[in-house]
Amino acid sequence: MTLQDKTAVITGSTSGIGLGIAQALARDGANIVMNGLGTETDNAKAIAAVKEHGTRVAFDGANMLRHNQIADMIAKAEKTFGAVDILVNNAGIQHVAPIEEFPIEQWDSIIAINLTSAFHTTRAAVPGMKRRKWGRIINICSAHSLRASPFKSAYVSAKHGLAGFTKTVALELAEHGVTANAISPGFVWTPLVEKQIPDLAKSENISLEQAKKQVLSRQPTNQFVTVEQVAALAAFLAGQNAASITGANYAIDGGWTAQ
Ligand code: NAD
Repeated sequence: MTLQDKTAVITGSTSGIGLGIAQALARDGANIVMNGLGTETDNAKAIAAVKEHGTRVAFDGANMLRHNQIADMIAKAEKTFGAVDILVNNAGIQHVAPIEEFPIEQWDSIIAINLTSAFHTTRAAVPGMKRRKWGRIINICSAHSLRASPFKSAYVSAKHGLAGFTKTVALELAEHGVTANAISPGFVWTPLVEKQIPDLAKSENISLEQAKKQVLSRQPTNQFVTVEQVAALAAFLAGQNAASITGANYAIDGGWTAQ
């Protein structure tokens, strides 16, 4: 139980990668604060899956578009569990459209949820981490923090921004026992990817099957990355053996960014 007595806040953890990370950190002994905007039934299912690992689990429905709700979530987590030791900035959305048709509200939401929310969570969690001289900040970026694709202007901008933010935070906190790292997955089969297949098909005027193939063709392994693989990397970065890793951006993308 490498993370016993630690508390992790994971944004967007009611689904996909975030849920996988919540399960992996709970398996390693951490108390978990889950977050997300799913339906009540979906959230209850996700919470039950994390509770199976026997640690304390709380849920906070803070909307990552609202900085006050984000600050309240961190404050409540500290009050309930005594600390926020591990912060995983994972919440994210996607929208695929040509730049000249890209809906302005979608641009604003993607930048707010995928980038700015990590600033608000980190800003609120860092004072406690510094006081306790221990902390782990893990930002779920994307291969799109290292490479661009057409029709994903907001997502690519947000993820490149999050990668830069990670490095800055790492440098600021290096002498305080707090690390900040990014994980950059390639395509992982989650609802986020599933939902963009029809948009891609429409943008490129191709069939759904062709769109799915096109997505996978970016990854030399021709396989989707699994949620469990990303979660295992996050659990490693949260642990004691990762104390000297900071400011890194780990690609886990089947060779995509090696090209
Ligand atoms: P997902 O759609 O399965 O889960 C997204 C989570 O974010 C959900 O829990 C959702 O409720 C939450 N969320 C969305 N908007 C929110 C808001 N305003 N406030 C609070 N929570 C909100 O997606 P996923 O594929 O698991 O993606 C998780 C992260 O991984 C994202 O940052 C995504 O960009 C990144 N990522 C995903 C892939 C992939 O292929 N799936 C690849 C690289 C990076």
